This record gives sequence, C-alpha cells and structure tokens, in this order.
Amino acid sequence: MSFDSLDAIKDLDIYGLVHGTFEKAYANHDLVYSPNDNSETIDDKEAGMTWVVSIVDGLAQRPQNRPTEPGSNEEQTSDKVAETRKKDPFVKPEPELLIADNVLGDYRLILNKFPNSEDHFLLVTKEFVPQDSLLKPAEIQLIDVILHNLNSSPELKKTGSRFFAFFNSGPESGYSQFHKHMQFLKLPAHMPVYQSQLVATSDFFLPREVNLKKHPLFNKKATFKHFILKLKEEGYKNEEEQEMLLMMLYIYLVRRCMNTFVEEGIGREKFSYNFMMMDDWMMIVPRRHAHFETVWQNSLGYMGLFSAKNEEVRKKMTDIGFMNILEGCGFAQDEEEEKVIYNEYSY
Ligand code: AMP
Repeated sequence: MSFDSLDAIKDLDIYGLVHGTFEKAYANHDLVYSPNDNSETIDDKEAGMTWVVSIVDGLAQRPQNRPTEPGSNEEQTSDKVAETRKKDPFVKPEPELLIADNVLGDYRLILNKFPNSEDHFLLVTKEFVPQDSLLKPAEIQLIDVILHNLNSSPELKKTGSRFFAFFNSGPESGYSQFHKHMQFLKLPAHMPVYQSQLVATSDFFLPREVNLKKHPLFNKKATFKHFILKLKEEGYKNEEEQEMLLMMLYIYLVRRCMNTFVEEGIGREKFSYNFMMMDDWMMIVPRRHAHFETVWQNSLGYMGLFSAKNEEVRKKMTDIGFMNILEGCGFAQDEEEEKVIYNEYSY
C-alpha cells in the first residue's frame, strides 16, 4: 500500500487498513500481545483527570535500543549511535507488520510489535533519523491528516474511541527506540480527554509570550507542567496554511519547553519532552526523568494511561500515586503558572 499525497490519504480508510493488518498479524502470532480486560478506570476529580490502569504483558518483552541510558551522564558518541543502528527494528520492518510501505516517499506505517492496546501503530522514517530531532513541518501535518482521517471513521465512531498521536523525544522522554517514530494509539472507549475539555471553551489563538491571555491552556488541578494549544476547528484554507500554523504552534511549545529547562539550569543535552496531539489540540510536557524509581514513563501517563508490565509494577504505581509519578518525571507547576512569562532570549 502506498500513500502518495495528502489528498490521497484523506480519501483512504486508514482505520480499516490498520485494523485489518492488526487482526491478521495477531491471528498469525506476529505480535507480542495478549488482550485482557484487566484495566481499571479511576475518575480522579481532584486531579481533573481519568486514569486507566492496566497490565500489558508484552511490555516486559519490549527491546530497549538507545545509545544512552536515561539518568546517566553518558555522552552520545557516534560509536554508540552506530551500535544502536545495527539493531534498528524500523529500517527494515517486519513485512507482517507493514500497513503502508510508502507514505509521501519518506515514511512507513507499521504496527507496533508490542502494542499497548489493539491497533497501536507507528509512523516511522524510512531512513534512520535520530529520535531526538524536531518534528518537521511535513511530519506534523501528516500526523494531523492521519488523526482526522482515523477519527472520522464511522467504524471507529461506533466503538466510542478516538486516536491520539504522540512523540517521545530527548533522552529523558521515556523512549525505547532511537530511530525516529511517531505513534498512534486508540483511547479506551468513552474515556474523557481533559485536553479536549479545556480547548472546547476556548477560541483558536496564536500564542504570545508577552500577552497573558494568549498563553497555552493547562489543567490547573494537575501538578506537572504542561502546555496545551487549541487547533483550528473550522479547517485550513489550504495545505500551506495547515502546515505553517501547526508548525508555529509546535515550535512555540518546544521553545516554552526549552525555556523551562533553561530556568531550571538543566543543560541542552538533557532536553526532553512528550508531545501529544489530537484533532482538536496539541500539548507538550517537559521531561526531567524517564522514570520515577522503577516506574518508566513516556507520553501515555500524561494522557492518563498507565500500563504496567506486571502486578508488582501496577501496585508500585498505585502506591506512589499517578500524579506524583507524573510530577516527578516532569517539572512541578508554578503556584501562579498562568502568570509565568519565560525570558525568550536566554538560550
Ligand atoms: P518508544 O518506546 O516510545 O520508543 O516506542 C517504540 C515502540 O516500538 C515501542 O512501543 C515498541 O513496542 C515498538 N517496537 C519495538 N520493536 C519493534 C519492532 N520490531 N517492530 C515494531 N515495533 C517495535
């Protein structure tokens, strides 16, 4: 399957393709996945978030393939990167996992071999590109087009689910693979999305650091620093406008994130964040640590999704507290977060 242009992608049934490939791969045991309904949903009013906690057996088997360990001060040498590239699973993906072998010339869509839940898939670059590089304009636009396509699927709507996309970047962001990949995951049916609730009562605006009314939105009840921007509801005039606006918003969020690191006196080489996006919003979470004690964390926790590889880890998560984990892996919100103006010129 080949996706040759954004227009062609808009007309495809991407959800049908992903789900069909998933069912086949699952039936043929090409995935490390055992569906179970052990998940627990906790509606946490104090946090203004819903937690969905589950045990995902496949996580224990997920390989780690990155040049440096989180929490270490190891240097990312070219030798270490070369070592990682020898075991790169995305440069020649397993054929059974392929959803689309050619997306706009430079990308592929493949199933996640160790999915968190069914239909979990990845957008990967064909050639090796480091995960620590920024998203390109074409990539962010592609994510937006894929999300709109998926979430308007009548089949998906029947299930009451929506997809979101995420990108873990930087040594403390919690990634396990170093080859550039963006991910798409289906939320549990009818799960409330705090970001969608926040942007629903706001108009679209271009963020401005010097204007408090044009600052990103955030969940005041959460204690971890995060910045949310609404996306245009009424669609874009053309593809150029879509690409330009999405990129402006993303770069603004990245800059704010960099400023968080500068203010905390943390060096550039540690710059890490989780980026998440849906049809109606995008969000960034600056990340200080990839894990809290032994609890590993990437973008998913910041959506409210906690997956544990076994009962012991699930218990540990509950004992520490979901919000404590998220705050510990990120940065604490300021007392008057809405009034923080970052010094734009301090890099
Ligand atoms: P991250 O942990 O955010 O870096 O995401 C990388 C993802 O790649 C993980 O969720 C893994 O389950 C997935 N993965 C690892 N090896 C493979 C593979 N051979 N084919 C497809 N997906 C893989």
